[in-house]
Amino acid sequence: MTDCIFCKIVSGQIPSSKVYEDDQVLAFLDITQVTPGHTLVIPKTHVADVFDMDSDTAGLVFARIPKIARQLKEKLGAKGLNIINNNGEAAGQTVFHSHIHLLPRLDKEDGLAIQFETHEPDFTQLAQLAQELYLEA
Ligand code: 5GP
Ligand code: ZN
Repeated sequence: MTDCIFCKIVSGQIPSSKVYEDDQVLAFLDITQVTPGHTLVIPKTHVADVFDMDSDTAGLVFARIPKIARQLKEKLGAKGLNIINNNGEAAGQTVFHSHIHLLPRLDKEDGLAIQFETHEPDFTQLAQLAQELYLEA
């Protein structure tokens, strides 16, 4: 896609700090480095988000994540790693070429806060919702 910033990174029109590359997948350091080693993993072909992604592309991207994650953990001495993937503006996506954020965690006080607002479980509602959402394999 001509005006996609990540397609330009794939083609080399925009420089990036690569940490992994093969024919189908590229991983490079996020310019904002939320935590040290903050890496983005992308498919080389343009796909906007998870809703647009076919299972082959998803398989290619996700299959690379464990080894990149292990490399970040080992080289940076990270104690953990968060994986975040934003899909759509409502979910905070700002670059519309699908990407997985890998965020190495040195400790809990490293500046990254992920907050979930939890609710008391309502088992009747859960059962109804699951019935509505159930997808045949
Ligand atoms: P999103 O908010 O869409 O999940 O994340 C987009 C990410 O892309 C942001 O964390 C932002 O820092 C990163 N980003 C945007 N433009 C560039 C760029 O030109 N180079 C690199 N390496 N990262 C970028
Ligand atoms: Zn793109």
